[in-house]
Amino acid sequence: MSFLDNLYKEIILEHYKKPRNYGILSPATLSREGLNPSCGDELEIFLNIEEDRITDVSFKGEGCAISKASSSLMTVAIKGKKIDETLKLTEQFKEMIRGNEVAEELGDLSVLQGVAKLPARVKCATLSWITLEQALAEL
Ligand code: ZN
Repeated sequence: MSFLDNLYKEIILEHYKKPRNYGILSPATLSREGLNPSCGDELEIFLNIEEDRITDVSFKGEGCAISKASSSLMTVAIKGKKIDETLKLTEQFKEMIRGNEVAEELGDLSVLQGVAKLPARVKCATLSWITLEQALAEL
C-alpha cells in the first residue's frame, strides 16, 4: 500500500471499506456504467434528478481503494447539488487531479489530491466523475 503513503489514507480507506450511498437506486432518472481497464475498476452510477437538482445519487461496483473512495466521496459531495454546481465541482476535481489548484469548494474531496503525483492512479480517481459527466450529458 505504499502508493497511499502520501495520501490522506485514513479517510480514503474508511470510504473504501464503508462506501457511502452504495447500492442501486430504483427507480433512477439516469444510470451509467464506467470502466477503467488499466486497473480493473468498474462501477455504475445512479442519479435521481428533479428540475435542475440531484436529489439522490448512489453507486455500485468493484474497484481499487482510490476508485471506490473517490466514488463514495463524490456521492456525498454532489447529493442535493444543482447540475451546474455539480459540473463545476467535476472540473475543479479534475484540475486538482491534474496537479493544479485545489479549490476550496472541494472540501473532503481534497484528500485525493496526492493522486496528482501518481499518474497510474489518475484514471482510478476520475472514473466516477467522468461517468457522472457522461450521465449528465444525457439530460
Ligand atoms: Zn483503480
